[in-house]
Amino acid sequence: MSEKSCVKKLTDLVVDSNLRQLVTSEREILTEIIIYIREVDCRKLYLSFGYPSLFEYLTRRMGYSNASAQRRVNVARLSNEVPVVMDHVESGEIKLSQISVMAQAIRQVNRGSDKVSTETKEQLISELVGKSLNQTEVIVSAALNIPLKQHTKAKHQKDESVRFEVTLTKEQWEKFNRARDILSTSLSNGSWDQVIESMSDQVILKKDKATPRLKARTSKITNSQIKKANLNSASDATKASRTAIPKSVQHEVFARDRCCQYQSKITGHKCSSTWNLTLDHVQPIWAGGKNEASNLRVFCANHNIELYRQQAGIRSV
Ligand SMILES: [Zn+2]
Repeated sequence: MSEKSCVKKLTDLVVDSNLRQLVTSEREILTEIIIYIREVDCRKLYLSFGYPSLFEYLTRRMGYSNASAQRRVNVARLSNEVPVVMDHVESGEIKLSQISVMAQAIRQVNRGSDKVSTETKEQLISELVGKSLNQTEVIVSAALNIPLKQHTKAKHQKDESVRFEVTLTKEQWEKFNRARDILSTSLSNGSWDQVIESMSDQVILKKDKATPRLKARTSKITNSQIKKANLNSASDATKASRTAIPKSVQHEVFARDRCCQYQSKITGHKCSSTWNLTLDHVQPIWAGGKNEASNLRVFCANHNIELYRQQAGIRSV
């Protein structure tokens, strides 16, 4: 490229000046990207494009690495509540990695009974300006009164093995050791990889034996559809047939589909998620659809709701 060879001829001062301009442009573009990601999230556009989540949309459609996608999701969502964060990102005063530390800590707190208020988030953001990642961890940990957990790391190696690093709380570690003791009689040496494999085998075996926990479309959704179709008199009969999907039929559909069958009409992309699966009626029960395998398909919960929105003419908000 001529552009690259040109750089060789520039003076040191010009190289430095051009680079500073490019870095500024990079941050401006990043801010614009975050605004677009926020809009995709707000519209739940990823669902109609065939992806089960914003994160999957950014990694699989936009080509971001897992870490880069998660950082952008964190900033986009935080900026909805604390808009000033965008100014700090554009000026370079706060890095995306700092926001990720803060977002992870907030999720940690919110999983308990407490919730982090908007005021606390605003205060934290103002304290993170110009700080390093290490300083950020100390500030966030002190402000939210929690020990910060290290990120779980999964590194795929050349021989297709995976190096997995996870931080456990004291209670989780004790529980894990107890499970290891219980399994020790059936394992040859009790190494951690054997323990994890054995626990996984047992969960998979239990799952395969049990009826798949597939949920029919929620009663709230179906009742709304029934109201919309003005079929009040059929309501009781519809409820009865909705809840009576035979277990053998559930098994058959799950064994056949295995993953979310939602396919975007816009991109042609098939979701294929295996997370939080539900059963969906191709022809809704209120419209005469039956609880038969040929009229059922596996959808992830998000696409089940998305399809309802599409059918009911409700725009995602
Ligand atoms: Zn899906």
